[in-house]
Amino acid sequence: MFNLSRRAFALGASATALAACNPSTGGGEENFVNIYSARHYDADRLLYNAFEEATGIAVRVLPANAEQLLERLRAEGDATEADLVVAADAGNLWRIKDAGLLQNVTTPALEAGVPARLRDPEGAYWGFTKRARVIVYRKDAVQPEEVASYDNLADARFRGQIVARSSTNVYQLSTLASRIERLGAGNARAWAAGVRANFARDPQGSDTDQIKAVAAGEAQATLCNHYYYFRLLQSDDPADRAVAEKIGMVFPDQAGAGTHVNISGAGVTLHAKRRDKAVQLLEYLVSDAAQTMLAPLNVEYPIRPEIPAAPGLAALGAFKEEEIPLDALGRHQAEAARIFEEVGWR
Ligand code: FE
Repeated sequence: MFNLSRRAFALGASATALAACNPSTGGGEENFVNIYSARHYDADRLLYNAFEEATGIAVRVLPANAEQLLERLRAEGDATEADLVVAADAGNLWRIKDAGLLQNVTTPALEAGVPARLRDPEGAYWGFTKRARVIVYRKDAVQPEEVASYDNLADARFRGQIVARSSTNVYQLSTLASRIERLGAGNARAWAAGVRANFARDPQGSDTDQIKAVAAGEAQATLCNHYYYFRLLQSDDPADRAVAEKIGMVFPDQAGAGTHVNISGAGVTLHAKRRDKAVQLLEYLVSDAAQTMLAPLNVEYPIRPEIPAAPGLAALGAFKEEEIPLDALGRHQAEAARIFEEVGWR
């Protein structure tokens, strides 16, 4: 979804072209900040527009996926024109930090705005939205209590009835990393092996493809981020809504540790040329004004519990969240990849 009509430059633009680019708004040639973003939501652009209006600082966005961003930042080194990096999943943000491409930033506004476990302990990245890893199931085949826990996906009850996305996807890596953090590698391995034994087919496709496979009767349950289900539910396309009608959703582990929650977040690049403006934008993203504005436009949850989520999202119900520090998702990422490989979840 690359709908960024106001973006000032395109992927592949050289740093020189970028520096020469004159922003369309703001108080002069130097009054801008550059974002490398792996998020491509219209809601983000509206937020940047509001920041531009409030501050006169133009926000220029270079879209790419998280891996491209990392490689690009690495290749550019201290010549980079990127000031802020925006990406989904703490696992991705951790990778960018681990590559030494972010700088630690801590301010009172950031600390007040972002719960401690939803940011890097050193301030390399800060969450600004939350997403939940939920279980969806086919209503005519499964009772919700049969999938009340992530553990259930490994039950013999579901032999040949689970579809899953590839383990190379960061959502899967983070899901398993959270389990390693809470329950240890042995437990995580047994769970991954159990789910793997229940596969209806080899991993393929996106989160949405898994939901569609469940609705089509290829399997009975799968894991997905809540907003993929939510989008089908709220879609203008009757075919999407027909998929969602066949599907039930649970927030897993409500009787236990709570549902695995991840973030979208942002961090200031190590070589930011406009560090102060990047920090200003980061603070804006977690401010009451931005969070309140973003919530009804967004398919994710606000970063703080006191900001109400979009009404449709709130209708899915309140839920208990798993309370691990999210840098654990990065720290256990390599081990999670190793476990998936060992159990044959490709
Ligand atoms: Fe996603």
